[in-house]
Amino acid sequence: MVKEKEPGVEVIRCHHCKTDTDHRLLHTEEKEGKYSLGSDYEMQQSGSWSIEWKSFMCVGCHELCIRKTVDDSEAEYPNEEYYPPRPGAEARTPPKWIHTLPDNIDLLVEEVFTALQNRSYRLVAMGLRALMDALMNATIGDCGGFEEKIREMIDEGLLSKVQKEVLEPTLELGHAAIHRGHAPTGNQVDAALAVVMSMLELFFVQKKAVTTIVKGIQPRVKVAKPSKSRQSAAPKTAKALKAKKKQPATQTSLATPANHGTI
Ligand SMILES: [Zn+2]
Repeated sequence: MVKEKEPGVEVIRCHHCKTDTDHRLLHTEEKEGKYSLGSDYEMQQSGSWSIEWKSFMCVGCHELCIRKTVDDSEAEYPNEEYYPPRPGAEARTPPKWIHTLPDNIDLLVEEVFTALQNRSYRLVAMGLRALMDALMNATIGDCGGFEEKIREMIDEGLLSKVQKEVLEPTLELGHAAIHRGHAPTGNQVDAALAVVMSMLELFFVQKKAVTTIVKGIQPRVKVAKPSKSRQSAAPKTAKALKAKKKQPATQTSLATPANHGTI
């Protein structure tokens, strides 16, 4: 479902302009049908399907695109595809690992992506904020507001300075949508979505992968360092001794093999 600004004009992400722009509808084709559900023995029920093709032109760059919408009475939502695909379309599809998330969180992620595909950007910003709240509650418990939770996660070594720097504006986007009536742009929610998805993947998917990664790896073996007397005896020829005198002490120590303490 796409927002229609005025009859015949929709806001669609342009593959040439790389942002959401007004697109004028040029042409529509539709077909539909019915099919039966269940066997002959059971009470006959029928389902219905429809396919719609619409061609559009971006009012900014005049590039054309076609949208194919397939609807089925048995499906929860219609499926939309664009030709050529919209930029960032793959980023607007739920990741494959979504079903490995805790129950309450995977459902919320699904709802955020549904809102994103419907261009309900305020809801996306609010949903992303709620997802970060759920992540922090699952990690450290509900210990206060976002400020307290971020501080607690940093104190526990669970959040880095860089993650804090990208997380705070992401949360701010949600605060602004909820409390100040801010209407986020598509680019804003795409950027915030990338931050939240990376956090969810790190905390709920990659952490589980650690045992797989380290399985079968040989532990590091420490090698004893050569003694100081052997190091000082290293330059044996007169030429090498002369060269050693010319070099600063730090360079000489770097040139010896004594620094290779481990393999
Ligand atoms: Zn365009």
